[in-house]
Amino acid sequence: MASVPCPECGAPTSAGELCDECYADRLDVLDAPDEAEVRVCSNCGSYVRDGGWTSHDEPLPDDELAVSAVKDGVRLHADAREPEVVVGVESRDPNVLRVSVEAKAYVRGYSVDDEASVRVVLDRRTCPTCAKRSGGYYESVVQIRAEGRDPTDDETERALEHAYGIAGRDYADRDTFVTETHEVRGGLDIYMSTSDAGQQVARRMTEEYGGVYDDSATLVGEKDGEELYRVTYAVSLPEFVPGDVVEVEGNPVLVTNNAEVLKCTDLRTGRRQTFDDVNPERLGNVRDAEYTTVVSVSGDEMQVIDPSTYETVTVSRPPFVDARQGDEVKLLPTRGNPLPVPNKNS
Ligand SMILES: [Zn+2]
Ligand SMILES: [Zn+2]
Repeated sequence: MASVPCPECGAPTSAGELCDECYADRLDVLDAPDEAEVRVCSNCGSYVRDGGWTSHDEPLPDDELAVSAVKDGVRLHADAREPEVVVGVESRDPNVLRVSVEAKAYVRGYSVDDEASVRVVLDRRTCPTCAKRSGGYYESVVQIRAEGRDPTDDETERALEHAYGIAGRDYADRDTFVTETHEVRGGLDIYMSTSDAGQQVARRMTEEYGGVYDDSATLVGEKDGEELYRVTYAVSLPEFVPGDVVEVEGNPVLVTNNAEVLKCTDLRTGRRQTFDDVNPERLGNVRDAEYTTVVSVSGDEMQVIDPSTYETVTVSRPPFVDARQGDEVKLLPTRGNPLPVPNKNS
């Protein structure tokens, strides 16, 4: 076989190309840009990577942003074997960093090294999410209301927990956030950045407390070429809540749950009962009950001091009241005689 000399060094080769050593020597192993730019949000520290804004709980230091941008921009030649690349920041101004890259590899069995220096510009701006947040952007409003009453503190606090939970934890999605909340006459309004998030709040509240929600959408414009609707979720929590004392079918009962059906304790018999589709009438709430003293007990009845009149009255003694003369019992004032209620719901 004829031997043709390497055009560079004259070493014998088979086809007259560069010999392996000259090839390795001439090859640019490292392909690095002269300059790289990182868009970073000056408000939240999110930055653009692979064309999209990242979500990071903790902003990255400038050095790490610059180094990772350079690593993303550097390519090694396909013939480089066992490459080792070291990237480090050489110098920094507030928005311009100089980053060095050193590469070592083997090409056709010959050790080569290469280096580059990249100027990294930090382009500080406001990310779309921060722009939306600061601009008061919202796509849904959840109106927390209750039938015939104001929502309780427990209910409004729970609604806020759901809203912030969905925004923060449940959807690891920067575009889901609580825009603002307002206490209004008759309840609470929660503004959220997506309609789905608003619906989740409405759904969770009615699952937990009962009641219903309605939605109504208003066309407000366009977003990414699609019609943008703002949806109002009107939550109506049930009129009666646990702790309410109501009259159902002529009997006083204590409401224990009203999420799907009315669950209650009969205040005369102590029996647990469940009602569907009834129209209870409000008698009061156990928090308005007062302690009073038992004067005497006779069978299913007891004489007690009526806390509102200080007169001795006879009331029935339900099974849940295990009281003797001189004991304290809890009575709820009603239109007629006061009503004994369980002590434990104090
Ligand atoms: Zn050669
Ligand atoms: Zn931001």
